[in-house]
Amino acid sequence: MNLLETLLKNNEEFVSNKDYLNYQTSKTPDKKVLIVSCMDSRLTELTYKALGLKNGDIKQVKNAGAMITHPYGSTMRSILVAVYMLGVEEVIIMGHTDCGFGALKPEPILSEMKSRGISDDVINTLMHSGIDVVDWLQGFESVEESVNENVKVVKQHPLMDKKVPVHGLVMNPDTGAVEVVHKDY
Ligand SMILES: [Zn+2]
Repeated sequence: MNLLETLLKNNEEFVSNKDYLNYQTSKTPDKKVLIVSCMDSRLTELTYKALGLKNGDIKQVKNAGAMITHPYGSTMRSILVAVYMLGVEEVIIMGHTDCGFGALKPEPILSEMKSRGISDDVINTLMHSGIDVVDWLQGFESVEESVNENVKVVKQHPLMDKKVPVHGLVMNPDTGAVEVVHKDY
């Protein structure tokens, strides 16, 4: 059985057992908060357990590094939609220590791309079209600084509701312990 078949078989059982009854909730988050966090798989369940959350409590946007790479990209758009349309009253940017994206250097990922058939021409064309692939694939030095920078992007966004607090946290992916790097009350 391949992965997709396994997932679909699990899904059939889940639905026929009515396990979904344990997860039914509304579209608006009960805790009225949106958390931007890293896609790191160690944090999937840990985030909920370590913060005492359950299904339906939060809106969550996940990406590599818990970054807002562009003020008009999909992460920032999700935050604005959540604030204006989905009842979100606070935003938390939550990075984590030992982040794979933080440690990312452009050179190894570019050479991996090349070894899988992406030609130098493609990369050069992008660079000449104003897409700085090298900078785009650059991680960060300090997770605390990165979280603070992302908090600033949200707080200073021209379309953001100025009354919405934007906090910054850093989670330890081994213990779930959270450090506050920006408390916005
Ligand atoms: Zn990470």
